Amino acid sequence: MQRILRVALAAAYMSLAIAPHLAFATSLRPEVDRQDSLTENLRRDWQFPWVNSMARQSLIQQAPIASRTARDLATRGPAHACEGPFPPSLPGRLESYQGISAICEGVDRVHRIAIRSLQSQGRRYLLTVHPVTLSTQFELETCLRCQSAMRNMWRQSPYGRALENSLALGDGGHVRLNLGLTRALIPIQGSFLTADLCPSRAAFDRDAIQRIIDNSSQVPVKLGLAYSGLWLQRHVTEFQWLQQLELQGRLQIEWINHSYSHPYRRGVDASENFLLTEGVDVYREIFLAERQLIEMGGRPSVFFRFPGLVGNSSLLQRLGDYGLIALGSEAWLAKGQRPRDGSLILLHANGNEPAGWSAFDRLWRARAIPLPFRGIRELVHHQQHP
Ligand SMILES: [Zn+2]
Repeated sequence: MQRILRVALAAAYMSLAIAPHLAFATSLRPEVDRQDSLTENLRRDWQFPWVNSMARQSLIQQAPIASRTARDLATRGPAHACEGPFPPSLPGRLESYQGISAICEGVDRVHRIAIRSLQSQGRRYLLTVHPVTLSTQFELETCLRCQSAMRNMWRQSPYGRALENSLALGDGGHVRLNLGLTRALIPIQGSFLTADLCPSRAAFDRDAIQRIIDNSSQVPVKLGLAYSGLWLQRHVTEFQWLQQLELQGRLQIEWINHSYSHPYRRGVDASENFLLTEGVDVYREIFLAERQLIEMGGRPSVFFRFPGLVGNSSLLQRLGDYGLIALGSEAWLAKGQRPRDGSLILLHANGNEPAGWSAFDRLWRARAIPLPFRGIRELVHHQQHP
């Protein structure tokens, strides 16, 4: 009797766990073994301490195990392709790009979370997130064993905690300004330098970025760039210049999604403006921006900044569904706000806000910018290797 109950519970739970996400067409791999007990796998293989408590919370922790190892999977194809190195970028036209939500295991037996499925030059890849470091990478789909999963499965990882913190910022249906994490969730020395690239016909602030690199003893300088799809499209040369600096090891960029078209109507109230503009397709705004970045040779991160920094709970929820964490700012320099340790600093690098760079230069000379500049992922997790 008890066994029947357990099986029924497990079936009910699994039907939830493998339900494709309502908001997008999920690409479920045919070889997914639905008999697997995901939680059991996590308890057995996951290399991080928080997995035990996660397993304890599950209804199906006693469910029978029918798991294959990722090593079996690797034997289906050339193993070396699965051992890496992973392609750092996948430039060129993507044949498909969609959101998924899955937990995957690689040949290295490490679990990661897949948030996007994409096809490039006939090969299928997943964009995966390391649940502790929040780093993203493109991995061949055939090298991973994945199961569709809901966000609460990784709630206790640093990535999950950051997502929950982002979601908790919602305020019912109310419109919020500066919506997103504004400072580090952990005590940290230094600050987070971010610059927005909203669509603009003005010249890119190349000199300002060059000056930071030249004046900084930090190598590479860590910088978060909040890109809009339209800015990227119109600034290919500038994007290539940034890529060169990365290749030279002088700059380390985290690309923050800032929507594709960055909707904005002058003089319209914030509650009906930006992504809250009637008729805006939020899915398209988010996914087209990422697609544009990838096709130009970049790799999306798990971070998003609302156009105008304006949003509400339901937009935060949408971001969470797509695996994205909202970023606001504690120190918008053009507005006279001063950074302290742990602050997210906000500038605009699209030529629209010279006042921000003047303030930056002034604070820099006064040694009032907390250093070093941290990578955005360090908002939630100390990097072992700076
Ligand atoms: Zn913007």
